[in-house]
Amino acid sequence: MAERIRRREFLRAGATAGVAAMLPRGALGQAPAVVRPKTARPAVVASANGHEFTNGGPRTCVQEAWERIVRGEDPLDALVAGVEIVELDPLDDSVGFGGLPNADGVVQLDACVMHGPKRRAGAVAALEGVRTAARVARAVADHTDHHLLVGRGAQEFARGMGFRIEDDLNTENSRRKWLEWKRRIDPGHWLDPDRRERAAAAARREMIAAGRLDPEKAWGTIHASAVTSAGALASVTTTSGLAWKIPGRVGDSPILGAGNYCADGVGAAGSTGRGEANLFSLGSFWIVEQLRLGSHPKDAVMAALRRVREGIAEKRLLDARGLPGFDVKFYALDAGGRFAAGSLYRGPRARFAVCDADGPRFVPTEPLLDQEILTQ
Ligand code: ASP
Repeated sequence: MAERIRRREFLRAGATAGVAAMLPRGALGQAPAVVRPKTARPAVVASANGHEFTNGGPRTCVQEAWERIVRGEDPLDALVAGVEIVELDPLDDSVGFGGLPNADGVVQLDACVMHGPKRRAGAVAALEGVRTAARVARAVADHTDHHLLVGRGAQEFARGMGFRIEDDLNTENSRRKWLEWKRRIDPGHWLDPDRRERAAAAARREMIAAGRLDPEKAWGTIHASAVTSAGALASVTTTSGLAWKIPGRVGDSPILGAGNYCADGVGAAGSTGRGEANLFSLGSFWIVEQLRLGSHPKDAVMAALRRVREGIAEKRLLDARGLPGFDVKFYALDAGGRFAAGSLYRGPRARFAVCDADGPRFVPTEPLLDQEILTQ
């Protein structure tokens, strides 16, 4: 029934209450039917590493995906090709090849893809040995009846689909950082040849003992979403997850509705930062549902951040100021091409990447708090 509401009326209705009032009784409880805009301002939105040239390549993730969608390519194909630039980049240690490994020194990847028009989703978690986790997640969506494959099963699936399986996805950089971490947490067994390191190591140990991993270094992920001029949406999140995690730990990135969500004709959302905080609130699903009810992407991401902030009940998750000892960022793009991103904290790293008719660029995220994150 709601599909019959004309776009003009939908736009006029604007705010949540207006749209809600036009829906049939009870519809809000059961995912209201979609009012799909006929056209959109095409856009690609991503976490900041979606527009960072760390490998000196000709195009960043958002540029690659944008060029593909304006050529008429499928939005998910375009995004997977875009994030692959970051996954394959040995210098980006938050994703794919060269991502920071788990506590055992093994790189385990999580990824999730969603295709709006096809209503497909696929994800992998704790995947070892394949650089391009998002492409494997795409294969799960396209070739299986399942949404999430993990660990050994995910790797065997990838092997069966023709992906190259490698013994080790570490680079010299990720291995060096892992060894440094090992020395710091276990100085009795792992000797540090550089004595000047010891003072820093002590500080680091204190932080870890307090449950506060270095908030600037511990997380890293790429999320990207796109909308075509026809209003077709897709989204991807891919990551090596939390650095030095307990082997087998899965974050929010590959979980539908947590690190990534996309609903045809409505919008897409994703997250980076402390996965546990987001798993608790399923931020991406919640944001997309706010878009469905008529919220602007900016209002939806800020409301999701408030939920994260309010969800902190344990002191170990707070810093000396009583503020969150971590950051979370949410990104949202609606079916009309409006977008926004928000972070808990402000600061130089509080930015995201966009590519649309105005070109590729960084845009500041809207901070929930007026402070910068405390780093060691
Ligand atoms: N959210 C990811 C995770 O918790 C990490 C990140 O985004 O930095 O695994």
